[in-house]
Amino acid sequence: MHRAVVVILDGLRRDFVDPARTPRLAAFAAQAETFAAFRTAFPSATRAVSASFATGCHPARHTLQGNAVALLEDGGLVAHDVGRPDFLAHKRAATGCALAVPTLAEILAPYGGEIIFNNVSPGAANAHDPEAHGQLYHRVISRGPGGVAAADPLRVTLDAAGDHAMTERFIAEALPRRPALAVLWLGEPDHIQHETPLGSPEHLAVLREADRNAGAVIDAVARQRAAGDDMMLMVGSDHGHETVCGAVDVEAELVAAGLMRTSAPGELVALSNGTASLIYLHPDQESRRGPLEDFLRSRPWAGVVVPAAELGTIGQAPHHALAFAVSLRADDGPNAYGVPGRALAAVPRWDKPVREGCGQHGGLARYEQSPALLIEGAGFAGGSVTTRPAHIVDLAPTILRHLGMAAAELGMAAAEMDGRALQTG
Ligand SMILES: [Zn+2]
Repeated sequence: MHRAVVVILDGLRRDFVDPARTPRLAAFAAQAETFAAFRTAFPSATRAVSASFATGCHPARHTLQGNAVALLEDGGLVAHDVGRPDFLAHKRAATGCALAVPTLAEILAPYGGEIIFNNVSPGAANAHDPEAHGQLYHRVISRGPGGVAAADPLRVTLDAAGDHAMTERFIAEALPRRPALAVLWLGEPDHIQHETPLGSPEHLAVLREADRNAGAVIDAVARQRAAGDDMMLMVGSDHGHETVCGAVDVEAELVAAGLMRTSAPGELVALSNGTASLIYLHPDQESRRGPLEDFLRSRPWAGVVVPAAELGTIGQAPHHALAFAVSLRADDGPNAYGVPGRALAAVPRWDKPVREGCGQHGGLARYEQSPALLIEGAGFAGGSVTTRPAHIVDLAPTILRHLGMAAAELGMAAAEMDGRALQTG
């Protein structure tokens, strides 16, 4: 039987994969193909990236634009935190769809199904399977096909101990059920990287735990292969991290410049996506677009400014009046522990903190766009490193190609995706 297993270490930078810091991943590289040019979506933020993983499409097509987004509702722009458990249900009610294209869970439902164990935000977990075709286990949401509540919900904390408990259940329960696709999405090292400096002892200790969890799955997959299943194993991450070197309150700057009226919150909305900002302009406010662009391009904190007409170049589209995407200024300088890569972060709404000196992501800078990817299975050269292009949207069609040996429908579904299968030969 053909099967696929995916392990994501949320937020892992690929330059942290080495024998000292991640010995299990470093050893796995001897049997897997390592993708040294792997890139992720924009924004490099977990919820949008989760939807891109699940659909094989960029945000322009799946329509989940970021971790925080605006929707055109009741004549105005309304800001939303996508991490909330109810966001995608709200988006479906307000716009007609949670995601505009099918997920792996939907495609695979008749072909062995998908089981997801996920320890990041509820909104990110939902993005894998918003219509409840597969089995989802998350510390807030545990449900089966049709949305039926699981009898055995996942009760874990968002930390290394919770990841460990989740990994044990994944190995004991998900793998023996032999689904077509089993996904284990760890909350670490992303969680600790947001709270401590990259390269600090606290960070490295948690990273070692995440590596150990991945190693346990690598061992479990080897045992199932020995029992006869043809299994592809992907181990990697959804984005990297930069070190926050300063904070920018984009909305306060727009107000101070006279471009945004706090008395009319539905006209213009700038939403932090970590080291990026998504700026929405209501269609009634078209006359402000030019001045807004001039202002953004004049700001020293704006690293890359992408106007609406060019959003396609970063996998976005002007849905819901998205007018500009900004990746904040970044450089390759070191943090206090000698870890390269620094970026400014946009101040978020909803009283969320900006932690200078700690990790963050969301933009287009080098290290947040350098996640890890190692794949073992048919069509991959074990023990080799490739620099051929690979993107998060390529993972779904790669999984379908592995699973689709005997099902033409899976090949047809893959052909509809933005990404392309990564197998060679
Ligand atoms: Zn993430």
